[in-house]
Amino acid sequence: MNQSFFLPRFLAGALCICSLSLTSCAQQVYEPSQILKDVEILAADSLEGRLPNTPGHGKAQQYLLQRFQSIGLKPVGTQYQHAFTFTPRNSSISQPGVNLVGMIPGKSEKVIVVSAHYDHVGIRNGKVYNGADDDASGIGAILALATQFQKQKPQHTLVFVAFDAEEQGLQGSNAFVANLPFAKERVLLNVNLDMVSISEKNELYAAGTYHHPALKPLLEQVKVPQGLHLRLGHDRPEQGPNDWTLQSDHGSFHRAQIPFIYFGVEDHPHYHQETDEFRNIHQAFYLKAVETIQRAVEVLDQQLPL
Ligand SMILES: [Zn+2]
Repeated sequence: MNQSFFLPRFLAGALCICSLSLTSCAQQVYEPSQILKDVEILAADSLEGRLPNTPGHGKAQQYLLQRFQSIGLKPVGTQYQHAFTFTPRNSSISQPGVNLVGMIPGKSEKVIVVSAHYDHVGIRNGKVYNGADDDASGIGAILALATQFQKQKPQHTLVFVAFDAEEQGLQGSNAFVANLPFAKERVLLNVNLDMVSISEKNELYAAGTYHHPALKPLLEQVKVPQGLHLRLGHDRPEQGPNDWTLQSDHGSFHRAQIPFIYFGVEDHPHYHQETDEFRNIHQAFYLKAVETIQRAVEVLDQQLPL
């Protein structure tokens, strides 16, 4: 779908939220072109599939540092980069990893961590696995949310994290949770985004309410743009591989007894394939998904305890 078609609809949808939200009605200026540009840049061949400790991954990191800075996020500690070490799958040699962490201070010191992962699986058999959906889409979304919450200051302190080495076994989030840069008691919730841009059925899932039923009525209040279906689920142990509780970085928070909501789509033919490219994301769906997630974070921010 071409951009000039969906842009007016998207903006029209964005305006609706102002009439619905009584507590905060800052101007809602989405930047669809910036969101798509972020995904296109992160999923470019020149970034070589963003495998940790490769030149392409370094370029992704530099790009995100520049975006954090231009959005005006504050570092947590002295810098955005939070270094750690991890042992990759199929190896016994440890490697350095770098999570990128920036925040928007709220009226409350209580923290909502909004996350996505910027690494992917690199080059295989000479082919670049670009990871446009997985998870450049999540990163594009958290940058859009950060931009928006700079304009409509949140109640809670929002901490935006681009995790490293998710594909190596949730390594960046494990390290982050094991060594939180603030007291654990301050962390109310992790909202994690991984694969939010491809769905034939226009379905975006929010997983986690099985574990945290108190969050269900909050998510049910989210005004969803027309044409997108927000489903709750994929979080029950009896669902086996369809239980997504531990399948992305929110799993690290869950293991540490920190509540989570995970936004994602069901697996699709491009999942972990060389075809997970920018040209294959569903742009109209993706922009509606970003809008939905932003509205969800607004509801959570307004209604979770301060
Ligand atoms: Zn992923």
